[in-house]
Amino acid sequence: MVIHKVPSSIQAVFPKREWKIPAEGKTVFLTFDDGPVPGATDFVLNELAKRNQQATFFVVGDNVRKHADLARAVIESAHQIGNHTYHHLKGWKTDLETYLNDVDRCDQILADKLGLETKLFRPPYGQLRPSQAKELLQSKRVIMWDVLSGDYDFDLNDEQVIKGSTEKIDAGSIVVFHDQEKTKERLTRVLPTFLDYLVDRGWKTELL
Ligand SMILES: [Zn+2]
Repeated sequence: MVIHKVPSSIQAVFPKREWKIPAEGKTVFLTFDDGPVPGATDFVLNELAKRNQQATFFVVGDNVRKHADLARAVIESAHQIGNHTYHHLKGWKTDLETYLNDVDRCDQILADKLGLETKLFRPPYGQLRPSQAKELLQSKRVIMWDVLSGDYDFDLNDEQVIKGSTEKIDAGSIVVFHDQEKTKERLTRVLPTFLDYLVDRGWKTELL
């Protein structure tokens, strides 16, 4: 089951992690996790460009290694890239040193392939042990979300994904989609509708 909106009670337990961005008016922050993946990331870039919208891509280091050109296209399109670990690790199952090394390795490939430094970090699955969070917060912004599209959950139909994400947005919301293998077909069905909804209702997208 997907809870499309992260309850404020949960957000309050981890106040140093960013769940929403203080914003005035109709501003939202779109994020895409797990790329770059051919057939997904390029599709997203194209749909954003058509509507002149911006997003942040939390990339997996190993995918940047495999598809550096696609990662470069994200930057060249004036979007933003954040670190999502090198191997898409589960924080709760990974010891501190291994986890931090994997985050560093992702930073390293971003520097090597793109000449990029980023302070933005999102933990895969939203999982972080307190020790991991404490270390990472020394040098990174830990970006969570308040609106989960549920695009990866095939117990939900396309309609539910669209409804669940559009209806839960408010000013400063951080919304998560996935540009990955599993979701790339679905993105072609839900993302255009979602983006049109934003544009039609006067929402603006910004970078984190
Ligand atoms: Zn992920």
